[in-house]
Amino acid sequence: YSHIQVKKLLDSVVETLKPQIEAMHLNVYVNATEFTVFASLDHIKGIFYNLISNAIKYNKQNGRIDVVLKRNQKNMYFSVEDTGVGIAQEDQSRIFQRFYRVDKSHSREIGGTGLGLAITRSSILMHRGAIKAHSVMGEGTTFDVRIPLNYIV
Ligand code: ATP
Ligand code: MG
Repeated sequence: YSHIQVKKLLDSVVETLKPQIEAMHLNVYVNATEFTVFASLDHIKGIFYNLISNAIKYNKQNGRIDVVLKRNQKNMYFSVEDTGVGIAQEDQSRIFQRFYRVDKSHSREIGGTGLGLAITRSSILMHRGAIKAHSVMGEGTTFDVRIPLNYIV
């Protein structure tokens, strides 16, 4: 564990994803406040990276991504909203399982192992947090993450 400036980390993750963002012609809006958490750098970076890379991969050309990072006295909140393909209700509980990928043929073209969300979820649980998905087919998906600060600050 180390002291992490989360906005700085988030900006650096978005920067590394620039080529993929540009290839999809996406508009990415980051609304973040800076604060420090005492946490596992690799895990927090992985949470940011996996959720934003999914929002890119499963988006539409010229789509949009809204990232919010904020805190209150108790929690850190991180959310990623995309204008992508969406996730059907029946798949929403399964996407956190290892190797589960929705619509294998479509996902095969996009590429991936199906491990990103499983790893993300275990990193969040390791920090005593929670993750939720909200999605409307054909409109987009939002992942909301909450991590308690009393555990990580
Ligand atoms: P990896 O992340 O290991 O490279 P992956 O992206 O396929 O591979 P996960 O990140 O675990 O694996 O996601 C599991 C599945 O959930 C994906 O294959 C995709 O079908 C679906 N999914 C995840 N995020 C989104 C999203 N933002 N919009 C639509 N579908 C999504
Ligand atoms: Mg993924």
